[in-house]
Amino acid sequence: MECPECRGKLNGAGNSYTCAECGVNWQVDFTCNVCHETPEMDSHCGSVSFFCKSCKKLKSRETMEKTFTRNS
Ligand SMILES: [Zn+2]
Ligand SMILES: [Zn+2]
Repeated sequence: MECPECRGKLNGAGNSYTCAECGVNWQVDFTCNVCHETPEMDSHCGSVSFFCKSCKKLKSRETMEKTFTRNS
């Protein structure tokens, strides 16, 4: 994912990401791009996956709609 501020690379998992370029911490809220529900977040073995219950599909972070909130 890209930082909405500087287009830098975001590092993180789940809903918490940090920009490698400008150092801003972002809270990212994901919603399904198809049904606009909030997908369930599953974390196991250090990786996080998102599953939309109403679409019954695994969602990738790239395709979902994202809302960025700056954490100070
Ligand atoms: Zn940035
Ligand atoms: Zn959905």
